[in-house]
Amino acid sequence: MRPEDILALTPAGLCCKCGDFHIDPTRPVERALITHAHADHARAGHGAVLATAETLDLMRLRYGDTFAGAAQAVRYGERLTLDGAAVTFHPAGHVLGSAQIAVEAGGLRIVASGDYKNLTDPASDPTCAPFELVPCDVFITEATFALPVFRHGDPRAEIGKLLHSVALFPERAHLVGAYSLGKAQRVIALIRQAGYEAPIYLHGAMASITRYYQSRGIALGELRPVRGAGKAELAGTIALCPPSALADIWTRRFPDPVTAFASGWMRVRARARQQGVMLPLVISDHADWDGLTATVAATGAGDIWVTHGQEDALVYWCGTRGLKARPLDIVGYGDEDEGLDSATQASSSPQGQAEDDAGEES
Ligand SMILES: [Zn+2]
Ligand SMILES: [Zn+2]
Repeated sequence: MRPEDILALTPAGLCCKCGDFHIDPTRPVERALITHAHADHARAGHGAVLATAETLDLMRLRYGDTFAGAAQAVRYGERLTLDGAAVTFHPAGHVLGSAQIAVEAGGLRIVASGDYKNLTDPASDPTCAPFELVPCDVFITEATFALPVFRHGDPRAEIGKLLHSVALFPERAHLVGAYSLGKAQRVIALIRQAGYEAPIYLHGAMASITRYYQSRGIALGELRPVRGAGKAELAGTIALCPPSALADIWTRRFPDPVTAFASGWMRVRARARQQGVMLPLVISDHADWDGLTATVAATGAGDIWVTHGQEDALVYWCGTRGLKARPLDIVGYGDEDEGLDSATQASSSPQGQAEDDAGEES
């Protein structure tokens, strides 16, 4: 059996014919295995969905109870047989509930890793289970930050910059743009790890997801809605919002806000400047160049399939290491870390957004 006979690219995305399922399909299918709840990977309308309990809950939060015909929760490490294939889910370290999916058939193991990050110090993300290395024959990797220029560094140093600025400007508000699913909760957790105990304010669009994280035992301290808080109350505080809100009339309710943006893209200073970000924070939920190359090597896979991102550089790097590699052109995966314009559509609950937009613009 060749790897291509186990997993093949179809118009709906990666398809396992012998197991009769798709992984993170971009169109409605009968049976979908979902790596994580970001909207480009987890879409509504499939017949049956298999995913971790957290991913299913987050899909329910976003799409409502009718997000799929049927849903089945899978535990990390639990082995399922789906027709002619065996399947296991393993932590991807990306967001709460995120998984790599290992597919075994005909004596071969292929790991579709979805989005992932493999931190050298897993304590720098207390919001999800750390990445687990799964040895395999074929490794399917993302390539969001697959250029040597992307080295994320220590996120705690970035939070240090934020807290330093808060201390320097006690009369101003600090407004941190962060993707609503995963990044926002991680930024809050990092702020708490650094010893900051004051209430943190939240844009309405991230309230329900953040409450869900708290319900799963992730300690985020006291959180308050921005909505209803007066300008004076917001002086000296930290508030989190979806990246697009940074460029929005919504920011006018804050006293002289310092705008920050937490994203792996903030490594590119020109990008931060162009987006009008005063305080770029290099904090990413994707592996950086060192993380990608270290993971690819450590899986022991001789065949690497590279999806969404900077495929060329990683494919080239694999070649220099004697690994077979090719880009997988899956249409429909985005980049939730992207930027101020495109980043919200995937995570903000429409109700939360509307609720907040309806608030006063003082
Ligand atoms: Zn993702
Ligand atoms: Zn992705």
